[in-house]
Amino acid sequence: MSKIHVMSEDLANKIAAGEVVEKTMNVVKELVENSIDAKSSEIKINLLDSGVKEITVIDDGVGMDKEDAVLAFSRHATSKLKTLEDLFYINSLGFRGEALPSIAAVSTVILKTCNGEVGTEVLIDGGTIKEVKSSDLKKGTKITVKNLFYNTPVRLKYLKNLYTELANIVDYVNKMALSFPNIRFVLSNNDKVLLNTDGRGNLLKVIGNIYGMDITKKMIEISASNDDYEINGYVSYPECAKSSKNNINILVNGRAIRNTEINKIIVDSYHTYIPEGKYPIVVLNIEVDPILIDVNIHPTKMDIKFSKIDVLKDLINSSIKKKLESINLIPEIKESVSEEIPLYNYDSVVEVSKPKIEEFTLNFEVNEDNETYNDKEVIASTSVESVDSNRIKKMYPVGVVHATYIIAENEDGMYIIDQHAAAERINYEKYLEKMGTHDNNSIDMLIPIKIELLNKDFIILKENMNILIDLGFVIEEFGINTILVRSHPYWLPDYAIEESIRKIIDIVILNESFDSYKFTEKVAITLACKLSIKANDRITLDDMDDLLERLRNTKNPFTCPHGRPTIITYSKYELEKLFKRVMN
Ligand code: ZN
Ligand code: ZN
Repeated sequence: MSKIHVMSEDLANKIAAGEVVEKTMNVVKELVENSIDAKSSEIKINLLDSGVKEITVIDDGVGMDKEDAVLAFSRHATSKLKTLEDLFYINSLGFRGEALPSIAAVSTVILKTCNGEVGTEVLIDGGTIKEVKSSDLKKGTKITVKNLFYNTPVRLKYLKNLYTELANIVDYVNKMALSFPNIRFVLSNNDKVLLNTDGRGNLLKVIGNIYGMDITKKMIEISASNDDYEINGYVSYPECAKSSKNNINILVNGRAIRNTEINKIIVDSYHTYIPEGKYPIVVLNIEVDPILIDVNIHPTKMDIKFSKIDVLKDLINSSIKKKLESINLIPEIKESVSEEIPLYNYDSVVEVSKPKIEEFTLNFEVNEDNETYNDKEVIASTSVESVDSNRIKKMYPVGVVHATYIIAENEDGMYIIDQHAAAERINYEKYLEKMGTHDNNSIDMLIPIKIELLNKDFIILKENMNILIDLGFVIEEFGINTILVRSHPYWLPDYAIEESIRKIIDIVILNESFDSYKFTEKVAITLACKLSIKANDRITLDDMDDLLERLRNTKNPFTCPHGRPTIITYSKYELEKLFKRVMN
């Protein structure tokens, strides 16, 4: 009995064929997922001109017999999905069978396949089978798609430039390599290798193949579970943050998905560790009973909704935060610029301007070192010291540079601390804590402060007056569009009472949607930023000593509330290296 079944009209209609092939990536995806479903342990993808000219996928999977090889190109034939119900319980990766005919219709396809017995070769041109003959292939499948859209020039025009097409393919193959560390993936474009994994099942090694070895030393393993969810994977140190969200890789039951909700949860877990607009590198697998997810499948994307999202959110949030709070995150300055040359840097590629397809051939260099570290076992960084309750050792200030950067030392090395960022962190945590206690003790002012407002601001303020009262303010209306502040929270800094009050009132007025967490957060950041010592403020050695001690006692001494670093270090060894007291 043939493994391929003809799909019902109903299901076929659900899958809009025209949307299946839009980008070269869609073709690669279709072919690679066929290879994965064929139980391959090695998948090679060779592209010419980002796949526009040619895409070849070679696998060592189960292969097909002659009947299936021919049937694979007839419309609505699929080996995976027989009924609509299957869509919701699918174990395979997607829409096998539907896309192959679509691809064949707009290209030239040569399929060589062997199920271990007889080899078959099928040649299809513009959707028509031209030739079926025996092949000398011994095992697996080799499929070549040439001249995509040659007979539909209009669609050819819709392809993006070669960089974008390639970036999409690399991104997709990276995600597959991360999802299937047991499968060896080799991706090349115009004979340049872009990714080469070993298929031995070590996820951290795959991360190294994609992001470079230096990054693997800065990845933290996480693993946690509750009654409904189990999560495991790796998250990066804040210092590795990139400007693309694309490096957040989420798998659900081993399958790569995109989900803005989960992305947001992960980014929120790094709150104040990473500046806004920067994103960590993450590979996170979520194991869950399919009953708890609602899958909405579309030929080109997959949408997942989680029930009990709050439970999942807590799990992800707490496990990432716990890790970040347990390790030393001071970025170390090294003499040599990192040797890391990632095979492929997505960030740099997508930002390149858009040349025309014809004018352009891509040339990516392979990281020569790639081969050498294939043999070594990759182990998570040993430099992850667990630090005592104070996460940084005591530092002794020796001076200040540009009235901004404090220089300090201890037996481990030299430290440079941004005095404003450090003070900001200290005050931010202090204000957050004070507001969090809901201890609304207030201090009466000898002379109440009168504040005149715009009429519309006055209305907003009146509406949200309870928020101010909760904080410990006593406020009265005082004539037209004017308020009188009689008492203020006890924790306002006494050197800037009026300024603080005005800032807090501004925040109330400017906050459109009222979220009390966001409000206290905003108040803490604003007061910390405005009322902390600034760059260029002169401070004494004693002040510095006090500042460093208080920084050491914060929950996160490594970044200011905006996610900028407070502190960097040159280790003693690194200094000796720089001055050639030690060699290499
Ligand atoms: Zn600031
Ligand atoms: Zn800051």
